[in-house]
Amino acid sequence: MEDQTKRIRRGTIAPNGLIFWRYSKGREVWVTPEKFALKQSQRDKSWNFDNREKCREAERRWRARNPEKAKEKVKRWLLADPVRAAAHIANKHHRRRQRTTGRGVTATEWKAIKTKSGGRCYYCGSVSRLTMDHVIPLSKGGKHEAWNIVPACKPCNSKKGAADPEKFAATIGRLLV
Ligand SMILES: [Zn+2]
Repeated sequence: MEDQTKRIRRGTIAPNGLIFWRYSKGREVWVTPEKFALKQSQRDKSWNFDNREKCREAERRWRARNPEKAKEKVKRWLLADPVRAAAHIANKHHRRRQRTTGRGVTATEWKAIKTKSGGRCYYCGSVSRLTMDHVIPLSKGGKHEAWNIVPACKPCNSKKGAADPEKFAATIGRLLV
């Protein structure tokens, strides 16, 4: 099962200015602050939001109290439908892979990242063709996820390479927070 303590909280702000949003069905996305505010107000308006959360909370508590029964329940659920079981296993592998490389960056997220930076290179402000740059390099355990991505022009991206991001940012007078 997923490690709950490692989950990012809704509303977390990334160094690139995007804010984390998780849909009630679990889909996760990084959005601009404007989009975040919009989503927040839409969610508050949804009449059954409180009830859904309460149900889920009760289910979580039940699982924590009855781990064996919960396991049995999943097993029965899987046995009842082989197609579902196959999908469940595939999903499990997918999640494991995601844990190491990240869940990827959607086109919408990449657009939001560029919007947030004003269409400029995060490091030098150039408006030339922007590429995705990992703030924490993948080689150092950074993930290919929106929170870890800033737009960088080709020269900055290659200058940085796998150099320490903080050192690199400092050399060009840019602070990473
Ligand atoms: Zn640049």
